[in-house]
Amino acid sequence: MKINLLFTLSLLFITSSYAQIKPVTPPSNEGSIMIDTLTVKKHLYTLADDAMEGRKIGTPGIEKAAQYIESEFERIGLKKFKDLSSFRQNFKDDGLDLFNIIGVLEGHSKKEEYVVVSAHFDHLGLKSSGSDKIFNGADDDASGVSAVLALAEYFKAKGDNERTIVFVTFTGEEAGMLGSTYFGTQIDASKYVAGINIEMIGKESKFGPKTAWLTGFDRSDFGKIIQKNLKNTAYKLFPDPYTGYNLFFRSDNASMAKLGIPAHTFSTGPLDNDKHYHKVSDEAETLNISTITETIRAIAKGTESIISGDDTPTRI
Ligand SMILES: [Zn+2]
Repeated sequence: MKINLLFTLSLLFITSSYAQIKPVTPPSNEGSIMIDTLTVKKHLYTLADDAMEGRKIGTPGIEKAAQYIESEFERIGLKKFKDLSSFRQNFKDDGLDLFNIIGVLEGHSKKEEYVVVSAHFDHLGLKSSGSDKIFNGADDDASGVSAVLALAEYFKAKGDNERTIVFVTFTGEEAGMLGSTYFGTQIDASKYVAGINIEMIGKESKFGPKTAWLTGFDRSDFGKIIQKNLKNTAYKLFPDPYTGYNLFFRSDNASMAKLGIPAHTFSTGPLDNDKHYHKVSDEAETLNISTITETIRAIAKGTESIISGDDTPTRI
């Protein structure tokens, strides 16, 4: 009786430990596991903090933002761009020392084919008067930079990108797309297969929850590829609804598109109804962290066949 009981117990033990060491099937939606709201929130609140003083070019505030982005690229384990000795791509414009911050994740079988993931980290700086003087630029575009950082961490951990991904945070967008224009002069555009630019993804889009829109939708088949990859998800991508605003030409994607690269901007911005746009009230607290996180996951999922080299969007 005693032996029998022991035997049963040990059988149970063997069965349960076997269950524990059984290989776990990989999660089907990796994005939702590796892109988490806490990390996104940390990026957003750091970059939109008052200490960054509105991240205007040529100020100590943008220097702080740059150092944060550099330290994240270092932590994530990205490589330097081309022959640069740091993550900074320095250049001069109108007497100012400017810099894009660039980190690279090398591809496997298609190393010489590049995909850019970008957002601008500069903003408007300080207002001359008023009780709140700081243009925090939380939605514009700390939200996009948070996406670039989260995507860098995601693709690095995933480790299966066949194409090389170039993560860029551009400077001087608000001063006339200075950073992306300079970046364009330093690349062989024919090797760049896509540009994924991200601007203002912190508020629910006019199409409702779990939606974003894309600028220049009909200028290449990039948008259709994203829609195909999002087909079995709850997230939907629409063509830019603000056709009168010329948005395709008003963000950093334009500097790459001019060179023929299918480069488009993802956004959720409710532009016709956004009371914080280019105001000192564009603060992190006005944004929805879930909207940002879900949009980043959708961008990860939506661009996966481009990153893997299975899809190549048509040129512009
Ligand atoms: Zn912007």
